[in-house]
Amino acid sequence: MPATVIVGAQWGDEGKGKIVDLLASESDLVCRYQGGPNAGHTIVVGDEVYKIRAIPSGIIQGKQSAIGAGCVVDPAVLIGELDDLEARGHETAALVFVSGNAHLIMPWHVALDGARERKLGNLQIGTTRRGIGPAYADKATRIGIRVQDLLDPKILWQKIDLAVAEKNVWLERVYEIEPFDADEVYEAAAAHATRLGPYVADTSLLVDRALRHGKRVLFEGAQGTLLDLDHGTYPFVTSSSPIAAGAAVSFGIGPNRIDAVLGVSKAYVTRVGEGPFPSEIEGDAQDRVRELGGEFGTVTGRERRCGWLDLVALRYAVRLNGITSLALTKLDVLSTFAEIPVCVRYALPDGSETEEFPAHQSDFHHCRPVFETLPGWGVELDGPELPAAARDYVRFVEGALAVPVTLVGTGQARESVLTLG
Ligand code: GDP
Repeated sequence: MPATVIVGAQWGDEGKGKIVDLLASESDLVCRYQGGPNAGHTIVVGDEVYKIRAIPSGIIQGKQSAIGAGCVVDPAVLIGELDDLEARGHETAALVFVSGNAHLIMPWHVALDGARERKLGNLQIGTTRRGIGPAYADKATRIGIRVQDLLDPKILWQKIDLAVAEKNVWLERVYEIEPFDADEVYEAAAAHATRLGPYVADTSLLVDRALRHGKRVLFEGAQGTLLDLDHGTYPFVTSSSPIAAGAAVSFGIGPNRIDAVLGVSKAYVTRVGEGPFPSEIEGDAQDRVRELGGEFGTVTGRERRCGWLDLVALRYAVRLNGITSLALTKLDVLSTFAEIPVCVRYALPDGSETEEFPAHQSDFHHCRPVFETLPGWGVELDGPELPAAARDYVRFVEGALAVPVTLVGTGQARESVLTLG
């Protein structure tokens, strides 16, 4: 498909990296459409290990890689990645493009992110403290500094001077931490401008031209559907729009230019931190899934909560994103379970049952899962075909959602993906 969006269909950590890599190898241009340097992929090529957080991972395969207007960019992180790639022999000059409309994560955003989380104590959101939320907040308040501002020294100085005056009041009086010096911030930003200048591009035009010339464009979302700022489980959400429509908004193309939406879901569910989680597994089985699936935060090491596959939430993801096919990852994690419950409906406090995700958070908070139990397969998924019971599990998901499952993850290795006919 010329324009395909890959979207996390749950609360993030769905194992998108592997699927993105697979599709990137068949694409000409890979586009990152939201978020900042918090979500990252670890890519292993032979003996080389790459950790990239800002640039789409397609760059490792020498693909054109674009960062859209809907992203927030930490210039120091981006430059670090460019330097590392170049030091390891990867061309970046004609391959990496950054939208001039993307907003910059400035040092006060990082300081405020950490200070706010510390002040919230037990009520903290659990952000990655990289300044992403505060940068998006300033964008919405119309006081943000954009990538293109780096190219105009006068405007850059004016904006930094104004921002520092305001942010320092918050930093000193509300959070009681060190203020910033406008001159120092400007010097650092001016150095970033010199390095990043050549990469600043009109990414809307770039994608438009690529599609007109019949190129294959892949849009990769970070985080996941239920973390969407508008449609996710607010306030435990991210500060941008991971849903598929976000790709069109971020890159400035019409929604009708998107041909396919591939949703990525685990064969079970995980969620980090607080908030309602109807299909959360009770008892020891949750620890077993966590251990088998390695469900611990990559950066924080924090345990992820684990649940059985929730078809109500996944149906919602299909609706929100217009998912045309699904990749079901980590099916192998369930291989040793004799029986596998799947959440097919929610029971609401008034006694009714629903297959649709509740529109009101208190309904979601109080709903109970209705499970249907499917037989396990009891063997490893290391062959070229799925065992019958695993195939039935996949078919059950397809039937419930009316969406084909085209890819299945069967192990940690990058090549452990089965393509279903
Ligand atoms: P993302 O946050 O959605 O991009 O997730 P990643 O791509 O970083 O994947 C998270 C972890 O899941 C990595 O350690 C992967 O190796 C692992 N993983 C991905 N797919 C599978 C799978 O099919 N089976 C197993 N067992 N692990 C997988």
